[in-house]
Formats: sequence, structure tokens, C-alpha cells
Amino acid sequence: MNDVMERRGPAIEPREIMQEGEAGLRITWADGHVCHYDAPALRRSCPCAQCVNEWTGQRMLKPEAIPDEIAIADLALVGRYALNFIWSDRHETGIYSFRYLRELCEQDEAVTRES
Ligand SMILES: [Zn+2]
Repeated sequence: MNDVMERRGPAIEPREIMQEGEAGLRITWADGHVCHYDAPALRRSCPCAQCVNEWTGQRMLKPEAIPDEIAIADLALVGRYALNFIWSDRHETGIYSFRYLRELCEQDEAVTRES
């Protein structure tokens, strides 16, 4: 069974969440996979209702609206399923489920593999 495709269990359970400086984040998942995130890309992927149209799924946030210097001011666990980031631009409404974070990471890896 491929638990990456399964989207349940250890692939979306973080074992360790570490900030790397002000603009980096590392998540080690329970299946042993390690993902690295950088703050500008994460901020541009914000899934909140201000950044994404809830009805159409269209991204309202323009990538160029986010400066490359953006940093993670703070982050907090939301229950057992998500992370809430507070960004240096004071945006703090994004709830990033672990499922979503894992998907972002895998999309990134797929791009890296293809290039
Ligand atoms: Zn947002």
C-alpha cells in the first residue's frame, strides 16, 4: 500500500516541526519523510478565504504581492491537524492542514525531479 497516495496515517502526521531561522520550516513526518519549506512560498500558498476564493478555489493573492523577505513571526498548532502561521506582514488567517503541507512539499519535489 502506498501511504503517500492514501493521504492518511503517518504521511500526514508530523513527528517534528522545526523553524529554520526566520524564513524556513522543516517538518519531519511520521513516515520518515523530511520536507523543507521557505516562508515566501508558504505565504503565497496561503489557503485562507482572503487569499483563495472559497467558492471557485481561485487564488486571489498575487505572488508578487508577497515580498521575498517575508518571515514567519510565529506559528501555532491547530488541534492535531493543522498549523496556523503568523507572518511578518501580520497576515494570520491561514490554516495549513498537515495534508495540505504534505501536498505542497510533494508538488515541490515533483518539479525538482522534472527539471
Ligand atoms: Zn491568507
